Amino acid sequence: MECVFCRIVAGELPSDTLYQDEQIMAFRDINPLAPTHVLIIPKRHINSLADLSDDETQIIGHMAEVANRLARQEGIARKGYRLVVSSGEDGGQVVPHLHMHLLGGRRLSDRLC
Ligand code: AMP
Ligand code: ZN
Repeated sequence: MECVFCRIVAGELPSDTLYQDEQIMAFRDINPLAPTHVLIIPKRHINSLADLSDDETQIIGHMAEVANRLARQEGIARKGYRLVVSSGEDGGQVVPHLHMHLLGGRRLSDRLC
């Protein structure tokens, strides 16, 4: 298995896991860009947002729901945070396993890109 996030799901690589259920998992980014930087991923390998089939889109809602809950846990819900999903090369996606970034804990850049 080559996918780094599949290896985390399988327990072959360590992670600072904050949440998991049957469908998804959330763990701290190894190279945090903000005081809170958490990745939320589906456990099943899906390459990118662009590869989600129409009947799989509910997983994004579930990922956002858990991200909101983690934002409250991290104490950043009131001041605000950002959820980012990069898709494909031009989108800046580096790890080819669908993931959502939860970023917060400081004033984020006004520039989206
Ligand atoms: P992206 O650029 O959207 O593909 O984001 C990939 C993210 O995965 C980056 O922020 C990396 O720091 C993070 N990352 C890569 N490997 C690991 C790992 N083993 N554990 C936690 N985060 C990782
Ligand atoms: Zn994977």
